[in-house]
Amino acid sequence: MENESDRAGISSIGRPYMGDPYLLTPGPLTTAYSVREKMLRDWGSWDSDFREMTRQLRSGILSLIGDSKDEFDCVPMQGSGTFAVEAMLGSLLPRESKTLVLSNGAYGQRTVQTLARIGRDHVVIDKGDYLPPRGHEVLDAIEKDPAITHVVVVHCETSSGILNPIDEISETTYSMGRKLLIDSMSAFGALPLEMDNIRCEAFVSSANKCIEGVPGFGFIVARKSALEAAKDNCHSLSLDVHDQWVVMEKTGQWRYTPPTHVVAAFLEALEQHCQEGGIAARGARYTKNRDVLVDGMRRLGFETLLTEHWLSPIIVTFFNPADPAFSFDRFYQLMKESGFIIYPGKLTVVDSFRIGCIGQMDEHVMREVVLATESALKKMGVASAQPPQSALSERRKLAA
Ligand SMILES: *Cc1c(COP(=O)(O)O)cnc(C)c1O
Repeated sequence: MENESDRAGISSIGRPYMGDPYLLTPGPLTTAYSVREKMLRDWGSWDSDFREMTRQLRSGILSLIGDSKDEFDCVPMQGSGTFAVEAMLGSLLPRESKTLVLSNGAYGQRTVQTLARIGRDHVVIDKGDYLPPRGHEVLDAIEKDPAITHVVVVHCETSSGILNPIDEISETTYSMGRKLLIDSMSAFGALPLEMDNIRCEAFVSSANKCIEGVPGFGFIVARKSALEAAKDNCHSLSLDVHDQWVVMEKTGQWRYTPPTHVVAAFLEALEQHCQEGGIAARGARYTKNRDVLVDGMRRLGFETLLTEHWLSPIIVTFFNPADPAFSFDRFYQLMKESGFIIYPGKLTVVDSFRIGCIGQMDEHVMREVVLATESALKKMGVASAQPPQSALSERRKLAA
């Protein structure tokens, strides 16, 4: 049973705004009031005040990446996360490169789609919806196809929530003399990604994930030697990371109109991140969010797609209940009425839904999510949240 102090604790982080719902989605997500408040002022993109903000943004990110040898730089790029991924791929993969893409979900698929569109040679290890790519598979693939020069992996594959073993992938990639690029969009800021510990050429993330800013730009963190070597690689003028870097270094400005308000909000988000205790503390809060959520949902009879070992603290996939009284659309609506926006699943084989653990919320909010779920099940007349047998046999493949 929930006691009074737990219920009261919901205010410890604060309701989003008036009656606004919590976004239990992996970006855009629920941000702090102080972050949104920073967008009330207009900034001139050319002005020295804004140039100083851009400098702070870049150095703030670099202070989080554990790069004691100062080998990396940060290049922000306008647009949503996908723009930044495309910028990284197009700029850092030479035209004559061949890339091994490790795919286990929608974002891996998007990387494949991007490489096809921008004309970069590639091969794919497709693990389906949620099985992790492993080091030995990378080894086999490169042995079979020595033309492979680069490997791309998604850190946390947000479509299932799986935390991919990037340390193992990195070790194998460099032991074979190849180079690694990481899509750490939904992980950076909450999960450790230290350049001193994990070797890569570059990784990418965006303003509106674990740093808890608002959407509007992404950033590429890349080895300076890789940025220097990237001249003339890019297929696109506006997405050219090398050019953006060179101009930013020289003038302190973005090449084209920057998302000024988003940058102002992001600096506040970085400050909040630091005040909270940095990556470790943020990761701990999200982990607590996940644990409270998963425990509560399991008590209601729900099952997670992933077994403990692969479960990330970013987002959790639950199987839809087998009970014919369950309807996702109705469930979504009822949850929204309770103040929570959830996320449909993205699996191809079984029906599922997802609940994000990231954003300005804590375990007390997650307890409310479980209570709202319980009440939604009652309203729909769902007696048991148990998934169908087919879902469980799917999951056994993971353990195998
Ligand atoms: C959010 C996300 C992206 C970028 O998606 P956008 O909708 O373009 O912001 C890319 N990769 C992963 C793993 C993500 O979670």
